[in-house]
Amino acid sequence: MTSNDFSFARHAPRDDLESSSAATVSAGPGPGPAPADLLRRLRARGAADPVTHVERVPARAGVPAPWPSWAPAELRAAFTRRGVVAPWQHQAEAANLAYEGQHVVVATGTASGKSLAYQLPALATLLADPRATVLYLAPTKALAADQVRAVAALELEGVRPACYDGDTPRAEREWIRRHSRFVLTNPDMLHHGILPGHAQWSGFLRRLAYVVIDECHTYRGVFGSHVAHVLRRLRRQCARFGATPVFVLASATSGDPATTAGRLTGLPVTAVTEDASPRGGVTFALWEPPLLPPDSGSAFPPALPRGSSPSAPPHDASDSLPSQGSSPSAPSQGSSPSAPSQGSSPSAPSQADGGHDDLRQVRRSALRETADLLADTVAEGVRTLAFVRSRKGAEVVAANARRALDDAVPGLGGRVAAYRGGYLREERRELERALLHGDLLGLASTNALELGVDLVGLDAVLICGYPGTRASLWQQAGRAGRSGQEALAVLVARDDPLDTYLVHHPEAIFGAPVEATVLDPANPYVLAPQLACAAVEAPLTPADLALFGEGAKEAVGELVAAGALRQRPTGWYWRHRERPEVDLRGEGGAPVAVVESSTGRLLGTVDGGSSHFLLHPGAVYLHQGVSYVVDQLDLADGCALVHAEEPDWSTHARDVTDLSVVSVRSYVDAGPVGMFLGEVDVTSQVVSYQRRRIATGEVIDTRPLDLPTRELRTVAVWFTLSPRSLALAGVQPADVPGALHAAEHAAIGLLPLMATCDRWDIGGLSTALHPDTEAPTVFVYDGHPGGAGFAERAYGTAAAWLRATRDAIAECGCETGCPSCVQSPKCGNGNNPLSKPDAIRVLDVVLTNLPD
Ligand SMILES: [Zn+2]
Ligand SMILES: [Zn+2]
Repeated sequence: MTSNDFSFARHAPRDDLESSSAATVSAGPGPGPAPADLLRRLRARGAADPVTHVERVPARAGVPAPWPSWAPAELRAAFTRRGVVAPWQHQAEAANLAYEGQHVVVATGTASGKSLAYQLPALATLLADPRATVLYLAPTKALAADQVRAVAALELEGVRPACYDGDTPRAEREWIRRHSRFVLTNPDMLHHGILPGHAQWSGFLRRLAYVVIDECHTYRGVFGSHVAHVLRRLRRQCARFGATPVFVLASATSGDPATTAGRLTGLPVTAVTEDASPRGGVTFALWEPPLLPPDSGSAFPPALPRGSSPSAPPHDASDSLPSQGSSPSAPSQGSSPSAPSQGSSPSAPSQADGGHDDLRQVRRSALRETADLLADTVAEGVRTLAFVRSRKGAEVVAANARRALDDAVPGLGGRVAAYRGGYLREERRELERALLHGDLLGLASTNALELGVDLVGLDAVLICGYPGTRASLWQQAGRAGRSGQEALAVLVARDDPLDTYLVHHPEAIFGAPVEATVLDPANPYVLAPQLACAAVEAPLTPADLALFGEGAKEAVGELVAAGALRQRPTGWYWRHRERPEVDLRGEGGAPVAVVESSTGRLLGTVDGGSSHFLLHPGAVYLHQGVSYVVDQLDLADGCALVHAEEPDWSTHARDVTDLSVVSVRSYVDAGPVGMFLGEVDVTSQVVSYQRRRIATGEVIDTRPLDLPTRELRTVAVWFTLSPRSLALAGVQPADVPGALHAAEHAAIGLLPLMATCDRWDIGGLSTALHPDTEAPTVFVYDGHPGGAGFAERAYGTAAAWLRATRDAIAECGCETGCPSCVQSPKCGNGNNPLSKPDAIRVLDVVLTNLPD
């Protein structure tokens, strides 16, 4: 496939057939120092060795397989012309299964050539049967456009591949429906366009042989649950026309891909997971920034801007450089999530107003560490790419590296740049060109997907903070390595419990994957609207209830009761003239618009769930690095009025959360410990906010807020412990709240290890005595109405999840708790009370009693 071996990310998530451009990559400057030597010099820099682990990922030779005998000569010749001499073993295996009619998911590394696995059976079928059709789904239009080019480049007679999405001109749509036999689209278009217009698509659907679902790990959580039902609606329409297509899915490596693909499609799916593609060797170091001495005045500005860019992962915020004194203040809540805040028992008073509860940075910041590493590698003449999670962070890393280099050799700083979204295409190309040719040696960038296609073949990649999933991590690391050369990759841990865990548990990165893509098609908040859509497309029959699965019968009953469906002898009919409006990416609560009063300019939107936290009156709101203060939050109109102002304080909302158990779905009785999964009602109210000085973290004051309560019915996992077991473990009664609260924070931080969720998708609550459980209890719940599968996954992997949580806390070198272990950037209770040593005792009690 690709000649540039360790290039499993030469084109963001793509891994298609074009390998020719890899040659341009090696046109850079001469080889740098060997990775092992380079690493030795980097780690010798400070007093303590920050490297916790070095993994030599060996080069791997590919395992080719013969072309399947059923692949027509014409198709083989077309692939050979594109540089594919033979398929790799996993491609051939998946292709054979699909050609035999089995639903299959191929879950292998980035750039392992997953495209060939579905192109082979799909195109062979199109060539053999001149009537057959193929439907390809990608999560993004860009990916579909990419694939249509790859298929078109094969120049196969009569296939006529075409993209059909929101950008397709009206004039072309009819031609595509009638003549294209390989239609590439996305789930939104399938949901909004193709399925409602099934009559016009009947000819295409009747002949549908394959459905390809690319990058299927992106269909997770609530969105994934919606997509699961869109696929059931597709299967239903195909069945009406007499077609039963084979599903071929491509996924990033993950835990249990067959189960996830089965949930997504509702079909039994076979997984192919053995990657037989070649790769180059890489030296991969795990790097934990050192603890700062306690007297170093470490009350840094609490945060880099959050809330400025909806795409920026919010908890980058605890990464801050003291030298960024001008960095605008930030509220302590994230921008993206709808998850409600967590808090301990609402009755627990906040005693934290003396500034002791600030998110003190006790470790050297990952941004600062990355900036230093970037400066050091550039000084060695090593072409280096640093990945930083936020745009602001990327700029900070570049600026600090430049400054350090200029101090050493005036002018050398000019060889480092920042790269972020928002640049013009030409500017991006220029930066890429400069890096590839060695005019530029260091680049600090936000995530790989924003990069152009040809930025690979670097000598070193620095990853500032775990990017959230193993797939992203390997995609970023895969930018390193030129043909035949070893490369260096360094993961720099941020002060986050998951990062702490990973740098001390390399097996979680380099061993078998455990994180699974989760979705929950039985979520009633997803199921009911999807059944309504299905009923519009064709009346629902009792047989359909089985297709839509668990909960469908109840959901139909509720739709009938609500007057949306009418039951007749032939089935359930949609009663209204208009179609239901269902957004696949919908979140509870309409987004709130942020409007500058003086100009009427719309600055951005914040999702409904976060608006109380981020846009309460008096909140400091950041938008693209500019600071605004909220004058008014108008919930009825869904807008917040703001004015530009840069105060020298940040704002931090506080909430009270109440939770009641609605029902228990499943539980494990483990003596003094109980583990539960069930439905809960969460009521939360943002009641006040603190203002804190940016420079010192000192609390200026706490101001009350008058905002309504909000309610969420969702799914939670919770555990209880008997007071006696806690006493025996040495937890004093007065320390129980802090112990549970600390365990809850860390458990939320570690859940992304087990499921592809973000800490911000999840909420929690802990209390020394809960009225429904009558025991000390820690709850962790999905932040989405009806649940998204995260709590369920946590319950299913409880022992492993809490073991990792316990280890992350115990292995953090701090004394009393820090953001790397038990403090949370989104605590609605100001990180108070927290007891790190007692949290370990609590988790030990759970783990001793809970069966594995
Ligand atoms: Zn710690
Ligand atoms: Zn908390």
